[in-house]
Amino acid sequence: MTASGRAGEPSAWPPLRGELRGIEPYGAPQLDVPVQLNVNENPYGPSDACIADIAAAAAEAAATLNRYPDREFVALRADLASYLSGDAGAGVTIAPEQVWAANGSNEVMLQLLQAFGGPGRTAVSFAPTYSMYPEYARDTNTRWVAGRRAEDFALDLDAARDLVKTEQPSVILLPSPNNPTGTALPPEAVRTLCEAAGDEGIVVVDEAYGEFRRTGVPSALELLPSYRNLVVTRTMSKAFAGAGLRLGYLAADPAICDAIRVVRLPYHLSAVTQAVARAALRHAPELLGKVDELRGERDALVGWLRAEGYDVADSDANFVLFGRFADRHAVWQGLLDQGVLIRETGPDGWLRVSVGTATEMAAFRTALNEVTAVNGERA
Ligand SMILES: *Cc1c(COP(=O)(O)O)cnc(C)c1O
Repeated sequence: MTASGRAGEPSAWPPLRGELRGIEPYGAPQLDVPVQLNVNENPYGPSDACIADIAAAAAEAAATLNRYPDREFVALRADLASYLSGDAGAGVTIAPEQVWAANGSNEVMLQLLQAFGGPGRTAVSFAPTYSMYPEYARDTNTRWVAGRRAEDFALDLDAARDLVKTEQPSVILLPSPNNPTGTALPPEAVRTLCEAAGDEGIVVVDEAYGEFRRTGVPSALELLPSYRNLVVTRTMSKAFAGAGLRLGYLAADPAICDAIRVVRLPYHLSAVTQAVARAALRHAPELLGKVDELRGERDALVGWLRAEGYDVADSDANFVLFGRFADRHAVWQGLLDQGVLIRETGPDGWLRVSVGTATEMAAFRTALNEVTAVNGERA
């Protein structure tokens, strides 16, 4: 069989789009080691009562699996709206028609790029930023432009506004708290970018780690009534202890939800996913019950790392970026050799560790001290 190349592309098999050839699929190593602190999961699983309720909800959904699920997932949208209204700050109510959901917030954001990006359009973010964003842009043929964050990983608002004015993006992607740095955006930054984008662009504030923000740090949900081009995404994967569930969602103007309905696959949210997500939401107080403890562990970890002499980025998330190392890979490998898996990501010389249980954090501290004592890795 021959694979004849498209104009300008060498022939190859399979006949993949030229820009996808040779690219490794995204993903952190999934290794079965005792201490897994690499993908920002909540270390606490559900209680027996919660497991039983989820199982009963799945069984009920199974009784009608011969039928397609509710394409508009009306009941789930109402439950998510009421959960968000409780986290949105005084006086802000989120209505069900302002909510959209998909299989993880990664799918929500891909749908946003499918609807609002595309050929001839531009998506902008500010590096260091979430490594999946350029992939959504590539997959939807959207031009990708990354500005820079300041030295302390905050946004330089004047530079950000200038970049938006120059590039005229139709989508701006802003993780807050940012992954991999943990930096939350002040409301002023969101306001500035919503105003700079105007009616030509949407501003997506990705609050995957929103529930971990420190006391006094507001959610961008509070700004929804002020900006119709603002989209706030959330997920059940992190604080909600539901990474295996695959449920992400957004809150925005109802017109934005309606636009996504044009590009979504029919019945993209299975009946089982909808039922299980609703059951999990009924257990929100339990599933979110460890968030305060994890925030405490995070703040203690930041303090400990600083006392040890490391550079540490302020964190409003359930992970901490620290460094700097002359050879970060050697430190990452040294920790792994001791059964502690963290993430080799972020700017050169930095490493990212997720916040786990008190026992896991103690194991991390011990392992890090041993690794750096042995090979004197600190730059
Ligand atoms: C983990 C993460 C998500 C969540 O992805 P899901 O698809 O909902 O599991 C989204 N954005 C950022 C920045 C993340 O780190």
